[in-house]
Amino acid sequence: MTDRIHLSKAHVTDVEEKYVLEALRSGWVAPLGPMVDRFEREVADRCGVRGALALSSGTAALHLALLDVGAAPGTAVVLPTMTFAASANAVAYTGAEPIFVDSDIDGNVDIDLLVETVGALLAEGRTIAAVMTVDLFGRCCDYTALGDRLEVLEVPLIEDAAEALGATHGDRPAGSFGRAAALSFNGNKIMTTSGGGMLLSDDVNLLERARYLSTQARQPAAWYEHTEVGYNYRLSNVLAALGVGQLERLASMIARRREIRNRYAAGLADLPGVTLLGRTDGLDDSEDNHWLTCITLDPAQVSTDPTTLMGGLDSVGIEARHLWKPMHLQPVHASRRAAVNGVSERLFATGVTLPSGSELADEQIDRVIVEIRLLLGAA
Ligand SMILES: *Cc1c(COP(=O)(O)O)cnc(C)c1O
Repeated sequence: MTDRIHLSKAHVTDVEEKYVLEALRSGWVAPLGPMVDRFEREVADRCGVRGALALSSGTAALHLALLDVGAAPGTAVVLPTMTFAASANAVAYTGAEPIFVDSDIDGNVDIDLLVETVGALLAEGRTIAAVMTVDLFGRCCDYTALGDRLEVLEVPLIEDAAEALGATHGDRPAGSFGRAAALSFNGNKIMTTSGGGMLLSDDVNLLERARYLSTQARQPAAWYEHTEVGYNYRLSNVLAALGVGQLERLASMIARRREIRNRYAAGLADLPGVTLLGRTDGLDDSEDNHWLTCITLDPAQVSTDPTTLMGGLDSVGIEARHLWKPMHLQPVHASRRAAVNGVSERLFATGVTLPSGSELADEQIDRVIVEIRLLLGAA
């Protein structure tokens, strides 16, 4: 039997092995150490920000960023409905109310609807702790269209760049937009530390305060002194070593994911009603990190629906998934307020995420293409 083709598998080589061994042999096995400092420095440089804080997850980074802007009961945080649950969970941890906004054609938040929603909430007298943008599937939001529209309204921006490390928008790296940004190094992301995340910011005070909260809010005293509740959110030195190795290979992993996307584009180009997300309607995806390649199936032209396609792929050992189910359709958030325009529901109903991992060989991508064509009746 041929090996199963996964959606986005961790891609680790002897480069990572070398750094992890170095960390182990250096004796810095317990939480913090030189690899953490180095990883923070290198990621901050890569993302064009002044500082970074290595954490146990991207969710932890979002949580600390939200605490910094004062997200708390009685405040609201406006964020996209088309995202992974972690974005909304982090808001819920603070007690703030998540308010969801629908998507533009590329899946990222609809900027006009976002600004309109913020304006409406402010007009109602609501306190908005932050807007959180999400750079979906490795593609930055349209920060050009956003411009200074939030600053004018005096609403801070937090960037959930968990899926977008290495992407850019107008020559600025993902993670450099907003007051603070979160990265994720979870196992299926563009690069991994097995599990981990990072908080990025130009504001050194923000990072210092987050560093303190992430280490159980321990006061500088000879004994364990605590004046407030903290968290255990730091990344270990051994995992940071894995991250240093992955970061060294990030550019090549992005290049490989782009090749894979181009291979799908060429292999599926003649199929009517099959479109690559991010290239729809003449959009250009050259600034994406190409984390995941997604297609949409226009039901007017394709009789096979996504669930049937995924089932067929699964039966031949190929993993494919739905796009994120919008938060406003999730039972846990059913009662939340949402500004809906129909786009995210359509993308969820018609979208399929294809195997995109940088470890995949051309032959494996070709096998996925052949199976998709068979299942869509276009062999
Ligand atoms: C993966 C992800 C996160 C959370 O990252 P973890 O490291 O798994 O906590 C947050 N937001 C988005 C959009 C993600 O895809």
